[in-house]
Amino acid sequence: MAHNAPQAAGPTKLVILNIGLMLSGAMEKPILDADTIVAENGKISAIGRARDVDTEGATTIVDANGTTVAPGLIDSHVHPVAGDWTPRQNQINWIDSYLHGGVTTMISAGEVHMPGRPRDVVGLKAMAIFAQRSFWTLRPGGVKVHAGAPVIENEMVEDDFKELAAAGVKLLGEVGLGGVKDGPTARKMVGWARKYGIQSTIHTGGPSIPGSGLIDKDVVLEADTDVIGHINGGHTALPDDQIRCICEGCKRGLELVHNGNERSALFTLRTARAMGDLSRIILGTDAPAGSGVQPLGILRMVSLLSSLGEVPAEIAFCFATGNTARMRALDCGLIEVGRSADFVIMDKAQHSPGKNILDSVQLGDLPGIGMTIIDGIVRTQRSRNTPPATKVPEIVGH
Ligand SMILES: [Zn+2]
Repeated sequence: MAHNAPQAAGPTKLVILNIGLMLSGAMEKPILDADTIVAENGKISAIGRARDVDTEGATTIVDANGTTVAPGLIDSHVHPVAGDWTPRQNQINWIDSYLHGGVTTMISAGEVHMPGRPRDVVGLKAMAIFAQRSFWTLRPGGVKVHAGAPVIENEMVEDDFKELAAAGVKLLGEVGLGGVKDGPTARKMVGWARKYGIQSTIHTGGPSIPGSGLIDKDVVLEADTDVIGHINGGHTALPDDQIRCICEGCKRGLELVHNGNERSALFTLRTARAMGDLSRIILGTDAPAGSGVQPLGILRMVSLLSSLGEVPAEIAFCFATGNTARMRALDCGLIEVGRSADFVIMDKAQHSPGKNILDSVQLGDLPGIGMTIIDGIVRTQRSRNTPPATKVPEIVGH
């Protein structure tokens, strides 16, 4: 697939038939009783039984062959830099590799690995606007990268946030990665961001790399960002009692990342479940990082939380889809009429002992991906990165 994936030239109508299992992405009803999805011009237009929906005039027909369709996965925490290259581990095509792990949308937590990253106010604003524009124009493999997430510095004033928002910036990078590391300043600036419609996140826990600092529960709760970025550390987690305080002390999103402390992720999951707050759990990889890039990182988190955290697999998939979409006001992440037609089609991996895909994930295995679709367009077929799926969908007509 080309880096700059082509968009459809004319009207499109995608029909996916013979779906064996449809995962909605919504915790309140994670499995839908339907076997067919129709998407017109990139948006879901019908969901139901084949005999009940209008499949006439399809431009693409996919026979799911009894496999599982879920919303495309969302990585809530990545650090893109420029195009499909990361200087952190000097890799190219890492975003395209994530697509082969089922990720169709990524959220930047700051373009902090940009070599020579500017830290003066005009420079950081310019870089954020540039990143937002460049990633919206160039979608590696078709993946939607929401980037342009400035890292706040002490010299910023309210007008800077107003100006960023007017220029199309919708995210802050992790609070704490720049000069602002104290609660009161963070709270003031997060408030300005929120006033102008910019979402916020924070670096929770110990320093990620030499030069960054500790952000503890007091700073996290005072800053009051929309998302508690990597509450399980990136990589070093806060002590369990502080994680519990954060879960109980606010209603913000609880982000669990692959490049964090896995035991702390399970502790957070159990705490949120005891509070009846699983809808706050969202997933990221926090890649690229010292731990590298993880094309299968979101699937691995789903499997980790489902198997060791004893969460039904269909609920664990919601952490990586509907929960994130709702929290971040994205138009994807749920199989629902009107939403973006972004899908991952999967099946049980070959030779997994699980009875079916959900059972295999609950046993700790990864599913095999057979196809990804973004905006109603088939982007990849059998994944080059997951273990091979037992059954794969196929394109049967145009
Ligand atoms: Zn971080």
